[in-house]
Amino acid sequence: MSHAIEPKAGILEISPYQGGASHVEGVSDVVKLSSNENPLGPPESAREALRRTAHLLHRYPSSDHASLRQAIGEVHKLDPERLICGAGSDEIISMICQAYTGPGTEVIHTEHGFAMYRISALASGATPVEVREHERKVDVDAILDAVSFRTRLVFVANPANPTGTMLGNNELGRLAAELPDHVLLVLDGAYAEYVEGYDGGAKLVDKRENVVMTRTFSKIYGLGGLRVGWAYAPAHVIDVLNRVRGPFNVGEPQLAAAEAAVRDREFVERSRAENSRMRTWLAKALAELGVMSDTSTANFVLARFDNEAEANACEDHLRAEGLLVRRVAGYKLPNCLRITVGDEASCRRVVHSIAQFK
Ligand code: PMP
Repeated sequence: MSHAIEPKAGILEISPYQGGASHVEGVSDVVKLSSNENPLGPPESAREALRRTAHLLHRYPSSDHASLRQAIGEVHKLDPERLICGAGSDEIISMICQAYTGPGTEVIHTEHGFAMYRISALASGATPVEVREHERKVDVDAILDAVSFRTRLVFVANPANPTGTMLGNNELGRLAAELPDHVLLVLDGAYAEYVEGYDGGAKLVDKRENVVMTRTFSKIYGLGGLRVGWAYAPAHVIDVLNRVRGPFNVGEPQLAAAEAAVRDREFVERSRAENSRMRTWLAKALAELGVMSDTSTANFVLARFDNEAEANACEDHLRAEGLLVRRVAGYKLPNCLRITVGDEASCRRVVHSIAQFK
C-alpha cells in the first residue's frame, strides 16, 4: 500500500520487534530463559531505592544524571565527565547512529551481531553492512576488509549475543588501531560483567579517540525492566551525544535504582559466580546429551542442533513444558537455540526436558 506520507528510505526494511512470550497457556510454573535476564531477580538495594524515590514521580528527573555518573565513575574508576546514560543501551546505540550516520554512510555489524545495530543504522538512514564471522566469532580481518570511505561506525558486542563468544584485548586493540580515523568503534559490553577481570574495553577508550564502550543495567544488575544503560567515550563523543540526547531520557526512580545497583558489588559478585557455576554445569549436561555449544563467556549458552527442524521441534517441546528459550534464526543461526543460564532448578528442568526430547 502506498501512502502520500512515506517514511525515509530504510525504515520499511525494519521489522517491528516480535516480543517473546512470557507465559504459556495451561502452565503455571513458566521459566523464562529467553531474554538473558538475571535469575536472581533485581537486587534488594535497587528495590529499596525505588521505594525511596516513589514520592518524586510528579517531578522531572535530573537531566545530567550526575549522581549515577558519579557512582559509575567511582566503581569503575572512570571519569564521570566522560559518561552518558540512556534508556537502556538500546537508546545509546540509537543516539550514536543518529549523531554519526545518515544517508550515504555505512554501519558495519557482524553476521550474528545484535539486531539493534542494523535497526538503528536503518532508522538513521544509513546502510548497514553485514560482515561474516568465523565459526560464530567476530573476525577482525573481515571487518577491516569491509571498511570503506563511507563507513562511520563498527559495532562489536564483546561478549557477543547470541553466540557468547568474545575477542581478546589484543584483537580488540588491533581492530581499534587499524580502523581509519573517520570510523568509530562501538564496543558493546552488555555482558562484560560476566567475564571476571574484563573492563569492557574501558582502557581502549582511554587509549584512543575512536572507541566508545556501551554498558547496561539490564543483565547482571537485574534491572532490564527499568531501561538504564550508559556509555564511556572520549570527551568529543560525549559532547556530541549530549546534543542529541533528550533532556529527561532516564527517570529518577531508574537513576536511583541503577545507582544503588552499581554500588552493590556483593550482588554483582554473587550473580557472576552463580552464572559461571550454572553455565559450566548446563554446557556439560547438554554436551552429554549430544547438544554442543561454543564456550560461552556470557549468561547464556548457544545450543547447536543438527538442523533447523530439530532446533524448532526442541523449542516447541520446551515451550509446552513452560520452558521458554530463544530461537535465533533471525541471527542466521537457524539450527541453534539460545538458552539463558537460569538458577539450578531451571537448568535442571531444561536438561531433563531436552533429554526427553532427544
Ligand atoms: N547489546 C547487547 C549485545 C544485548 O544483548 C542487549 C540486550 N539484549 C543490549 C545491547 C540492549 O540492552 P538494554 O537496552 O536492555 O541495555
